[in-house]
Amino acid sequence: MVRIAGVHKFFGDLHVLRGVDLTVPRGSVCVVVGPSGSGKSTLLRCVNELEQIDAGRIEVDGELMGYAEKVRNGSSELHRLHPQAIAAQRSRIGMVFQRFNLFPHMTALENVMEAPVQVKGLSRGAARRRAEELLDRVGLADRTGHYPAQLSGGQQQRVAIARALAMDPELMLFDEPTSALDPELVGEVLGVMQGLAADGMTMMVVTHEIGFAREVGDHLVFMDGGVIVEQGDPSAVLDAPRQERTREFLSRVL
Ligand code: ATP
Ligand code: MG
Repeated sequence: MVRIAGVHKFFGDLHVLRGVDLTVPRGSVCVVVGPSGSGKSTLLRCVNELEQIDAGRIEVDGELMGYAEKVRNGSSELHRLHPQAIAAQRSRIGMVFQRFNLFPHMTALENVMEAPVQVKGLSRGAARRRAEELLDRVGLADRTGHYPAQLSGGQQQRVAIARALAMDPELMLFDEPTSALDPELVGEVLGVMQGLAADGMTMMVVTHEIGFAREVGDHLVFMDGGVIVEQGDPSAVLDAPRQERTREFLSRVL
């Protein structure tokens, strides 16, 4: 599970996250919506330690991200972890971006095999078998030898999901995974994500796909101006938003 408490993030003078508290129980899907610039990507990037937070704490499966905590005489001290330890924490979290960022000179199979071999030290044979399994799971068993340029956007994004899964993450973060796709390709990617959710993966998903939020989300968060304005059961928030800002945002995206 993910526990985000009192998180603040600045970029210079810009106060981008202004005290975010959010809990994502293990095996649940948290969907994050909100206007451009509200801090959605920054929040995901902080969970994944691509950005360092300025205050508050983030725990993933009970482990404090980025810091070692020492309790002495009842008071706790935080020590920044070494880059290697942070990389190890990050390797347990899968992230899928709007742009697929596949290695262009590698086939779908090689893209999925890369991290398990390089980071986890898996043998090439074992990594290959696992990659084949994962590509099958995302519906690409017949595309393993294709290069990214030979795949549609939806297929590339499904390879990106398989690649993230290859590290056996405890948590998957999705940042607008379908917003760069042609409309007819959105469904195949959302379908794979829905399957992952059904298999019990813990997920945080930034998306404008309100149908997905309603059907697959266990929890919906509306962010604006670096704070969570409203959160709750997706249908409840979507059908009866309590805050004016939520109402106004939903009336524009629905
Ligand atoms: P969008 O829907 O457009 O993706 P978002 O909700 O994901 O928006 P963020 O990308 O988190 O918003 O950005 C929040 C604010 O932080 C914006 O004002 C953005 O310009 C600023 N910001 C994000 N990353 C950086 C950075 N690396 N350096 C400086 N400012 C940044
Ligand atoms: Mg964003």
